[in-house]
Amino acid sequence: MIYFDNNATTRIAPEVFDAMKPFLTDFYGNASSAYDFSRESKKAISRARESIAALLGANSTDEIIFTSCGTESDNWAILGALEANPEKNHIVTTKVEHEAVRSLCKKLEKKGFRITWLEVDENGFLDSERLKNSLNEKTAIVSVMAANNETGILFPVEKLAEIVKENSGALFHVDGVNAVGKIPFNLKKTEIDLFSVSGHKFHAPKGIGALYIKENIKLPSHFIGGGQESGKRAGTEAVHQIAGIGKAAEIVQDFEQMKRVSILRNRLENEILNKIPNSRLNGTKDYEKRLPNTANISFENTNGEAILARLSDLKIYVSTGSACNAESHRTSAVLQAMNIPFSDAMGAIRLSLGRYNTEAEVARVLEVLPPIIAEIRGFAE
Ligand code: PLP
Repeated sequence: MIYFDNNATTRIAPEVFDAMKPFLTDFYGNASSAYDFSRESKKAISRARESIAALLGANSTDEIIFTSCGTESDNWAILGALEANPEKNHIVTTKVEHEAVRSLCKKLEKKGFRITWLEVDENGFLDSERLKNSLNEKTAIVSVMAANNETGILFPVEKLAEIVKENSGALFHVDGVNAVGKIPFNLKKTEIDLFSVSGHKFHAPKGIGALYIKENIKLPSHFIGGGQESGKRAGTEAVHQIAGIGKAAEIVQDFEQMKRVSILRNRLENEILNKIPNSRLNGTKDYEKRLPNTANISFENTNGEAILARLSDLKIYVSTGSACNAESHRTSAVLQAMNIPFSDAMGAIRLSLGRYNTEAEVARVLEVLPPIIAEIRGFAE
């Protein structure tokens, strides 16, 4: 099979699996217990916290709190900011956030909170002047993603954090879920207060994430119960998961691998655009301003779901930017926000590569995709 859907989730690295195993078999003691049987578990948790802190460039391991996933980290950041600042009722976010932020903000809007939904242009970029103008004394939090999961577009979060801090007293949260492990971060040098991480996006298992909380920030506890995670997020530690995310963080600190991935992605993207008529890249062409692994490409007058199904028959796995069913033909909210025409947005697919992909896999996709598109267009005529 060919797996080109690494922004959805990734394969567990073999080294990660090996690092997890002892905590599922031999060292099953509760990490909070005082006896020596729990010592290995405690050590594994602190090692993992060090690895995540190093991967993010945090100032201290105290800034890293383990959660169950990126969604939990995103929810905690936003709800925590509101709870900590009950006199504030305004949130600033963008129209292209992941549902973990977007759906929560929509719900909060229905409850009476004021949300500013920042627009993006046709290349997927934010206007930082608009961000600046949206801030006021009631703004509790600004939540912006580091990298868009559908297009790979990078927001300049370090610069945006400075704008927020210079112009308001709001907290600045970054959904870093689809950026971590693909591009480096050095959070201690930034004004970013809160930063969400999800393990399964960088070769750790599903069910483990983290929230970076800058030293001076007081975020109310998320789960109330035992005193785990410095009392900030109660619940018996999932040591095997934590050991897994820690090992994955060590592995992905080798960003040389992402250079190789970007060469594969660039070849795939350029040859698709050259070979297949009426195809277009969604988002900027500038490699510096997007993730090294992602290409979101539209094939006019086709259907993303049909392309996905044909590729899936060949055991090639990608994802689509549209949701098409009998009742509705809806295109992705991200592509809509970028004003991609409907006939293009319906025919969008996302190819997201990873560390385990090869040149031969790229060649295979380049061989089979053009006839698939031609065939779908033939049916459509
Ligand atoms: N934020 C972004 C940008 C994502 O891409 C995802 C997952 O696709 C999430 C948040 C949610 O992360 P998780 O699946 O770990 O809950």
